[in-house]
Amino acid sequence: MLYLKNLTYHPAATPHAILKAINLELAPQQIGVIVGPSGSGKSTLLEILAGLAKKTSGTLHWRDQELTPDHLQQLSGLVFQFPERHFCGNTILAELRLGHPELGKERIDQAMTAVGLGDIPLSTSPRSLSGGQQRRLALAVQLIRQPYVLLLDEPTAGLDWSMRQQLIGLLGELKKDWTLLIVSHEPGEIIRIADRAWRLDHGELFPADPASFLAQPAAVSG
Ligand code: ADP
Ligand code: MG
Repeated sequence: MLYLKNLTYHPAATPHAILKAINLELAPQQIGVIVGPSGSGKSTLLEILAGLAKKTSGTLHWRDQELTPDHLQQLSGLVFQFPERHFCGNTILAELRLGHPELGKERIDQAMTAVGLGDIPLSTSPRSLSGGQQRRLALAVQLIRQPYVLLLDEPTAGLDWSMRQQLIGLLGELKKDWTLLIVSHEPGEIIRIADRAWRLDHGELFPADPASFLAQPAAVSG
């Protein structure tokens, strides 16, 4: 279980807190989706959960363990928005082993199969992959580290309809083995795979029924 209790982020330079007393619980092998407009604090929250930014106050636990930024860097896997822009390996193998040269073939094959890229040669350049395959590779890069929670920032941004459906299908499958926290500015199709959902508004988090994002506004007649 991931627990956030009264998590606040208020950099000294900003007049208002960017994240305000956030409470969130996410059980293992569930998908949580946070929906909020641009600037509401979604990426900042993921950066804190990935140990890249330091909370101002509040607590963060995984099971019974309180998590420091060092723990978080080791334990979480953050897939940035447009992750393909950050690829720097010349081959898929190099990309997967970046920072982890010790990773064995078995772990690499497992991760590639888990994201549906098991048939692509590891000598392939990441840049020659399709947009959807690049997103899958970015997922594999994090899965290979076996994170306790996979954090995804706008995972379907910029993909066409068919690639979005495939990626969402894959994220739904990954739930068998992983815990996922997804942030997005528009709930779109992703909300269909959510077990839990929240709205983030100016740094305040509110629980929401995933179905409430699917409801169409009633037609006004007369
Ligand atoms: P979102 O991902 O929902 O679009 P962000 O988390 O990127 O939102 O940003 C939320 C707000 O916090 C924005 O107004 C951004 O400019 C501001 N912000 C984020 N990090 C910092 C920081 N370290 N110092 C000052 N402002 C920040
Ligand atoms: Mg963002």
